[in-house]
Amino acid sequence: MALIVQKYGGTSVANPDRIRNVAKRVERFRDQGHDVVVVLSAMSGETNRLIALAKEMNEVPPPRELDVLVTTGEQVTIALLAMALLKDGYDAISFTGAQVRILTDDAFGKARIQAIDADRIRGHLGKGRVVVVAGFQGVDEAGDITTLGRGGSDTTAVALAAALKADECQIYTDVDGVYTTDPRVVPAARRLETITFEEMLELASQGSKVLQIRSVEFAGKYNVPLRVLSSFGEGNGTLITLEEGNNMEQPIISGIAFNRDEGKLTLRGVPDIPGAAYKILGPIGDANIEVDMIVQNIGLDKTTDFTFTVHCNEIKKAQAVLEQVAKSIGAREVVANERIAKVSLVGVGMRSHAGVASRMFKILADESINIQMISTSEIKISVVIDEKYLELAVKALHTGFGLDKPAE
Ligand code: ASP
Ligand code: MG
Repeated sequence: MALIVQKYGGTSVANPDRIRNVAKRVERFRDQGHDVVVVLSAMSGETNRLIALAKEMNEVPPPRELDVLVTTGEQVTIALLAMALLKDGYDAISFTGAQVRILTDDAFGKARIQAIDADRIRGHLGKGRVVVVAGFQGVDEAGDITTLGRGGSDTTAVALAAALKADECQIYTDVDGVYTTDPRVVPAARRLETITFEEMLELASQGSKVLQIRSVEFAGKYNVPLRVLSSFGEGNGTLITLEEGNNMEQPIISGIAFNRDEGKLTLRGVPDIPGAAYKILGPIGDANIEVDMIVQNIGLDKTTDFTFTVHCNEIKKAQAVLEQVAKSIGAREVVANERIAKVSLVGVGMRSHAGVASRMFKILADESINIQMISTSEIKISVVIDEKYLELAVKALHTGFGLDKPAE
């Protein structure tokens, strides 16, 4: 019989009825003889509500106190689930992060897990109990309550699965798996049976928000088989693993991610001399602005255009920094454009297939979509295009790379 860690997100525990449904699912696994550790989020909306309350008290809530406050959301759901299980005649016990001893550093609001006392949990499992653990929270060396960052319950679940050497970590959410792309944009998107950690990381960092990125990193590092599935239906969901699968039919591209949240900045007429890139991006880094894609090329007149993308929340700030830089290095002008979108093809299959980029560019050309920037890695190709062509681009690429689900 297996040891399974199951994590249920906020929508899955949004009210007493849904919590009872979670209990029923846990009970089915118990009936099959499995050991089950459950990790819960707060009821959906609860963490936001608590943060808003804190801000009413103090515009910049002190991080230690904020963590004491927001961790109450998870404390509510774990107790309620344990009560539901006990009522149905299943032995169960709930624990906060501090009780389990999920030991973290003391970076309130973004703490990192350092150790987990797995023996304690094993002891309770050995007595036939379902162990219900509050997600998103831990405790530091000094005994202060910490949190792991928004969406951190995923990371709690994966960390517990790693510490317990669980057979599988199941993440129950409101979608039934990981899709080739966002089904709201491409109705023909398909659920993936499997995907690798590497691909999942790329998809997550490119804007697909099924799992907290850190949880995927953690799962990859400790090789925890991770499954994303719906808490409202049945089905196998999507299994995320190390293996690339030896399926000959394995598509070259596993998924298409896209992101409207970036803006583009160009510094025109930059003198083509050593150190120019550093003089531009140094001050941007000093201002704590994260840069994504970068493109630079030399023109005939011995000057270059230097272009990069940042999150659109940072574009005004970055523009101000660049105006200063432009003056000091004698560049011609700064141009900002927020109306861009990034589209990325992701797939480990690219490693063994040449010509993916040219195929991508041909598909976009056939739709008369202009490419403004390109960047590639071993398993990803990203392009920046005009935001207004985003849907068209994603749909055309989805079809062009054979990802559409068969017509019914
Ligand atoms: N309740 C926390 C949040 O909303 C943690 C989680 O749901 O994973 O961020
Ligand atoms: Mg979540």
